[in-house]
Amino acid sequence: MADGGEAERLAAVCAHLEEIRADLRDGPGGDEGPVERVLAAARDGGDTAGALAVLHAVLQAGGDPLGLDGYTDHAGAIRGLRPAGISTTRAEPVYLCPAGRCARYWWPQATVPVPHCTISSSMLRRERL
Ligand SMILES: [Zn+2]
Repeated sequence: MADGGEAERLAAVCAHLEEIRADLRDGPGGDEGPVERVLAAARDGGDTAGALAVLHAVLQAGGDPLGLDGYTDHAGAIRGLRPAGISTTRAEPVYLCPAGRCARYWWPQATVPVPHCTISSSMLRRERL
């Protein structure tokens, strides 16, 4: 069972993979293994909770007290957008994780290409709220 924060933590990995890799390289472990294990678990459709917990702990050990949660500022806001039946007049498209594994979302920006999900390696999928 996913706990409440798992999708947000996966979204942090999805959206900030390169930053997380850089932090891991600079951290005490000196390698990207913890985040690679999260990606592998997510791609296999496996349980990511354990791998996310390890990654979180390694980031904290590297001197970031927020760990993985420090990357979730952007993803967390989707809680207010997703629930069905929410009253909104927004008809703008939003892009969501194509694998549906994480809580990542992205608003279209005219000059920016649609990002790819780092977990599924495919483009974020377009939805209408
Ligand atoms: Zn994703």
